Amino acid sequence: MKTKFKNIANEAPARVAVIGAAKSGAAAAAYFCSRGSDVFISDVCSRERLDEILRENGLTGKMVESEAGGHSDKILECDLVVLSPGVRSDLDVLKKASAENIPVWSEMELGFRASKAPFVAVTGSSGKSTTVSLLYSAMRSAGFDAALVGNIGTPVISVTPSLSSGSIVIAEVSSFQLETIDQFKPKVAAVINLMKNHLDRYADEDEYYNAKKRIAENLTPEDFLVLNIDDARLLLWAKEFASKTRVVMFGLQRCEGGDCVYLNGNAIHYQFNGSSGVILDDVTRMKINGRHNHINACAAAAVALSAGAGPDLIGQGLCAFAGLRHRLEYVAEINGITFYNDSKSTTAESIECAVQAFDSNVHLIAGGRDKGCDFSAITGAVRKTVKTVTLIGEAAERMAGQWEGIVPIYKSVTLEDAVNTAFANAAAGEKIIFSPGCSSFDMFRNFEHRGDMFGEAVSGLAASREGGLACQR
Ligand code: ADP
Repeated sequence: MKTKFKNIANEAPARVAVIGAAKSGAAAAAYFCSRGSDVFISDVCSRERLDEILRENGLTGKMVESEAGGHSDKILECDLVVLSPGVRSDLDVLKKASAENIPVWSEMELGFRASKAPFVAVTGSSGKSTTVSLLYSAMRSAGFDAALVGNIGTPVISVTPSLSSGSIVIAEVSSFQLETIDQFKPKVAAVINLMKNHLDRYADEDEYYNAKKRIAENLTPEDFLVLNIDDARLLLWAKEFASKTRVVMFGLQRCEGGDCVYLNGNAIHYQFNGSSGVILDDVTRMKINGRHNHINACAAAAVALSAGAGPDLIGQGLCAFAGLRHRLEYVAEINGITFYNDSKSTTAESIECAVQAFDSNVHLIAGGRDKGCDFSAITGAVRKTVKTVTLIGEAAERMAGQWEGIVPIYKSVTLEDAVNTAFANAAAGEKIIFSPGCSSFDMFRNFEHRGDMFGEAVSGLAASREGGLACQR
């Protein structure tokens, strides 16, 4: 199996099945159409929706066949199966494909095989998008022709075939995509942290961690594996991989005698290839806040060093990065009260990261669809920095129960009411942070929609204040 379509750029399969017609699946289908392969697209969505996607992506020629509403054995008539990132790799039809020796690849594997440019790949439970974005900024600042792809939003296969060997691909990789890799071999692989997650998809925690571990399975001594020194499980991986590849650590501690990037007070230091020094003298010069982001910056710097960037220019790149939308994003200031949108936060740990990014005087707006997180585990951080909590959504009652007596709690039916309540409770110089710690689907389409609605509620509040002031004048 390993040798089949080894060089996909020169050897187009006659017939390819693409499962999942979302962005990456559609990009994979378009790639194979452009190579002259027949493409069979299979999706669980409705016929109408699939036709709409095919039209939008120009996948309407006679080389394209499709099926909607499920995945049939027609997939087995193909020479290769490519999965869009959201598709489960344990589908019955995929087990049959493997039994018949038909290769099954994630879109990441396809994008890797179609690339002349080397890859650096980042996975982990939290902070992937932020870390790859910091890394992209650092690599650009160091003069590399870098491309940012994967989970961050750009399908790998829509970018890599046109890159030259002098470019570098920065890929955000999910555990799902790693389930169906084969020859995927980044020059630098990083696992930034491991936390309980996706237990709806995996039988247990170990199965999830083992999927992540596959990012390193093809690494050899000339490659690098970047791991978090403060994560006990990743420390064990460091020992396990030390004889197979070069291990570089990052985090809050220096790695005695080993290659590493670490926070020393507010400075990011490195020790690499026998030399040592400072990458960034003061992390507060970065545009993004929070200790978690300072650690993400260490991870990005460790990957950048491993990929060949000079230490002097990495710090500039880390400082240039303006932050991602919906991740502790500055929204506005009204009457000296600052508003932040952290709608991407869907766990208790994310609320903890958000409130700890500030010393005190935080008015937290949280709640949404309950994922069963243990909010009592973060009472220490809530007690220390949060002045009031305003709760919305299905989880409001349970969260209120877990924080009772710790902090004054208010409940609101709508996000707009919650913004008004938090504002009424806040004084000049204080902050209002919307960090839900829950999923968005009880009240919103997704976390982006939720964050946008928060922004609108804040704009509405600002407009009403201006109106009020105008009346007073
Ligand atoms: P991902 O792409 O892995 O979902 P993001 O960079 O989008 O991660 O960040 C999502 C949320 O994860 C952030 O809003 C923050 O709450 C939390 N987070 C980010 N970095 C870290 C980290 N290093 N450790 C723990 N939590 C983090």
